[in-house]
Amino acid sequence: MRTLRGMRAPDTSEITRTECQKCGAEIHGLNGRYCCALCGWVNHWSEGHRDLPDLEDDPDYPGQ
Ligand SMILES: [Zn+2]
Repeated sequence: MRTLRGMRAPDTSEITRTECQKCGAEIHGLNGRYCCALCGWVNHWSEGHRDLPDLEDDPDYPGQ
């Protein structure tokens, strides 16, 4: 399994750190979005530091 160390993140992404609000474990996320591997807690998407990409930005977007 790969670790975050040595993994190159896109320029627009930043690895951030917080405490799980459910079990208190230290967890890492991307741009303020977190998912706890221990208890499954996730924070709300709106707490992220950046806006989510638009639907049209998704490479799988079927278009019109
Ligand atoms: Zn947790």
